[in-house]
Amino acid sequence: MSSIAPSKSTIRTRLLNGQTGDPALLVTLRWQGRAFLIDLGRIDRTPAATLLRIERVFVSHTHMDHFMGFDQLLRLFLARDATLRLYGPTGIADCVQGKLAGYTWNLTDEYQFAIEVTEIGAELVSWRFAARTKFAREPLGAPAPFAGVVFSDRVCTVEAAPLDHKVVSMAYAVTEHAHLNVRPEALAASGLRPGRWLNELKNAIRSGAAGTTPIEVAPDDRRTVAALRDALLTVTPGQKVAYAVDTLFSPANAAKIVRLAGDADVFYCESPFLEADLEQATRRYHLTAGQAGALARAAGARRLQVFHFSPRYEGRYGELVAEAQAEYSGVRVHYGELDRRHAALP
Ligand SMILES: [Zn+2]
Ligand SMILES: [Zn+2]
Repeated sequence: MSSIAPSKSTIRTRLLNGQTGDPALLVTLRWQGRAFLIDLGRIDRTPAATLLRIERVFVSHTHMDHFMGFDQLLRLFLARDATLRLYGPTGIADCVQGKLAGYTWNLTDEYQFAIEVTEIGAELVSWRFAARTKFAREPLGAPAPFAGVVFSDRVCTVEAAPLDHKVVSMAYAVTEHAHLNVRPEALAASGLRPGRWLNELKNAIRSGAAGTTPIEVAPDDRRTVAALRDALLTVTPGQKVAYAVDTLFSPANAAKIVRLAGDADVFYCESPFLEADLEQATRRYHLTAGQAGALARAAGARRLQVFHFSPRYEGRYGELVAEAQAEYSGVRVHYGELDRRHAALP
């Protein structure tokens, strides 16, 4: 059997403004020295050295508390030879363009900095704004089909799901690929010579190929992916971080959130209101703490981190956390219907 190593925390996450400040979740890919940011509320209390590691920003929507940090990031990156990549719902390129139009750019024609913006809608549509051209908006490539994944490289995949907040509020999940390591002693004992087939094997596993897929390990010697994996590899599952904010608790939204946050190691979920203020939460297209707990429980998330509290509860924030955790852990199951409905999903 292949060994399943205990999962190491290779993704680190931190809410830059804690549970009560503007949403901005730093996701650091630990061995890579790079980071993503999910949402772009105010970030002026975070050191520049931390912010400069950010290479991609995933924005839920452009209400001010989720997007006002754009200016500060721009200021930090402007003189750098870097490209900042921004993702958000359809319309975000207009918002970026509008922000850029608020400044004077007569001395930036030798700057290398550029912003690439990808709008997530029925398709992924990308635009480029370069300092060199006074941030004139240019189309970037042809639109790409969108089927849930907005970004993927050899380390991780980022998925998005559009939620209803009276505007689209995009939820995100970052999933690190499983680590596949060859066990040297097992390889030596197998008598097989290392070669390109090892990469073929890893690629087959990463792309979800069937266990019966043949791999040619030597001339006229084919073995199945499953047999090679079990005999030679250590598989360490990757981490998953999910994030959902500013959303109505509707059946459609709940189904999307439960799917996106499924089996997450940590699920960051807004919980601005107490259940006692359900009517207010619904009117404002936001979740209650109890609803956040129910979504995390139905998703099977291993940990729930609630945040984005309404300032009306100042001095009582502990009540929001307690209500969410009680619902999440099943101490008080008010939204059991959600689990039953989810269990019935294919
Ligand atoms: Zn909002
Ligand atoms: Zn908000």
